[in-house]
Parts: sequence; C-alpha cells; structure tokens
Amino acid sequence: MNAPSARTNTLDLIGNTPLVLLEGPSSAAGCEIWGKCEFANPGASVKDRAALWIVRDAENRGTLKPGGTIVEGTAGNTGIGLALVANALGYKTVIVMPETQSREKMDTLRALGAELVLVPAAPFSNPGHFVHTSRRLAEETEGAVWANQFDNIANRKAHIESTAPELWEQLEGRIDGFTCAAGTGGTIAGVGLGLKAFDEDIRIALTDPHGAALYSYYACGELKAEGTSVAEGIGQGRITANLEGAPIETQFRISDEEGLNWVSRLLREEGLCLGLSSGINVAGAVELGRQLVAEGRERPRVATILCDTGFRYLSSLYNADWLKSKGLPVFPWLT
Ligand code: PMP
Repeated sequence: MNAPSARTNTLDLIGNTPLVLLEGPSSAAGCEIWGKCEFANPGASVKDRAALWIVRDAENRGTLKPGGTIVEGTAGNTGIGLALVANALGYKTVIVMPETQSREKMDTLRALGAELVLVPAAPFSNPGHFVHTSRRLAEETEGAVWANQFDNIANRKAHIESTAPELWEQLEGRIDGFTCAAGTGGTIAGVGLGLKAFDEDIRIALTDPHGAALYSYYACGELKAEGTSVAEGIGQGRITANLEGAPIETQFRISDEEGLNWVSRLLREEGLCLGLSSGINVAGAVELGRQLVAEGRERPRVATILCDTGFRYLSSLYNADWLKSKGLPVFPWLT
C-alpha cells in the first residue's frame, strides 16, 4: 500500500496532488501525456497553491496581521483558495469578481464565508476592472492586504517551490516537456522556472486560448489577441510580473472546440470531470508531444495541469442550452 502521509494541519492538504497518465491524449500524441490533478486540492483548483503562498508571504512581510482582511480581484478559483486559507488562519476575505463568471463560483465563495463584490466585466484599462476595484478596496479597508495575484510573484513561487519539484519527483527525473495556459501566468512561469532548474532541456510551451495576446507575444514579440474564448481563468493580454522572465520556448493556440473535445473525451473515456482550461491544456500537451516526437525524442514525456473540477461548471460547460447559446458543440449525452 502507498497511502499519502497523514497531515497534522489542513493547510498541508494543499499541493502534493496526484499525477495521472492520460491514455487518449498519449495515444493521440504518440508519447506519454501526464496530467497533474490540481482539482484534488481542497478548493478543487490549482489556485489553492498561489493562495497559500500569497498569504504566507504577506504574513512574513508583516503586512497581514492577525484577524486582518485579504482582498482580491479574481475570476473565482483564487478567491476560493484564499477564502479557505483565510478561514484556516483566522483572516477575512473580500473577493471582487466580474459578474460574467460562473454561478457555481459565486455560490461557492458565498458559501465559504467570503464577502463577494460583483462588478461589470470591463477592459483592464477601465478603472472599474475587477483588479483595480480590488486594489482600491484594499487601500480603503483598515487592516487589509491586496493579494494582487497577477503581479505578486509569491504566486509563481508556489509553483517553483511545490508544483515543479513534485512533477520532477513523480516522473523520477524523466520529463521532456511541460505546457499550460496562462491566467496570471503563475503556473506556467513557476513550473517552467522550477523545471528548468532541474534540467535545462525540458521544453516549456505556452498553450494560449483564442482571445488572448500571449501567443503572438511569444511568437513575434507583439501582444495581439485574435478571436474569443469562453474558458474561465485563462487568457492574458499583458506581461504580468509573474510572466516576466518565464522560460517559454514555444507556443500553441488552441480553440474552445479543441479544448471541449478533450473535456468530453476525458470525461467519457477516462472518468475525469474537468473545466475547459484543463481541456485546452491537454490539447496543448498533445501538440507539444507531437513536436517532440517529430524531433526524434524517444517516447517523450509531457506534463500539463488539470486546473479545476468540472463540477464548477454544471450550468455552463455541462449545460446544453448554455453551450448552444455560445455556438459551441453540445456533448452528445446532454442532448
Ligand atoms: N485554469 C483555471 C480554471 C484558473 O482559474 C486559472 C487561474 N486564473 C488558471 C487555469 C491559470 O492559472 P495561472 O493564474 O497560474 O496562470
């Protein structure tokens, strides 16, 4: 038996997630595609790690005092992670999010005890954007700190110090490539930097959804978005502090249809219920695997992130009417 070790603190449940070999993607790419099960974190997403590192960093700097408040602008998953970490450590949470995010995320945040502030979706240049609103709220609130996940590099440090060494150990030091999409960029930059410290030859690739500007930035130095995506939590239009110096060597642009195809296949063929960013990541991992195979690497191993649980999207991704309203294919078992 190989049971995970007993933990004496609930916060120690964050990280050390399982890694699983994905059969369909592996046979599509002709190599090994591994998925890091970040949905197995207590808040059911990859963002629990960033939340814990950001809170610990604020405590270490002395900016977050006992009984203080953590304020953040977030598409949802970081808020869920922050609310859980804050509850465990005796802090309050105020979460600002665009009202376009999924109902489940809002209900979850309220259920966890976070104070929720909904703002209209607006471009980053607009002072009403959820990130700017959260910064202002933090400044105006006594005893509050602004988590600032986009430009606070405690976010990527979480992945340098936990996700990357876990992947290296789980794959016993044999890994050829890693790819994922970027929201804040903390995961791609942190895992990328962390893995490169073990082995410079590990190829780091960005998987960008449509509607994001990073693909063109890494391809030709210009931030330029094309198309749109319904994927939540990913798709960045600028180089955040977390993305600065990220060792990205190649990039793929993945459509929602391609991502949904993997979401569908992973659920029906492998029993994994995931969100769309995971499907997009897997599509990117298949591309990276094919690239490494074409270059003659012997049965390469590629890892990616299974970012969050599909249970968070029952009224969107897993709802026929919603999919139709977005002009997306409906999973056959939903019709
Ligand atoms: N997928 C989902 C569902 C997310 O919520 C996020 C976080 N915004 C990401 C992927 C991307 O992670 P990161 O912020 O580390 O780039």
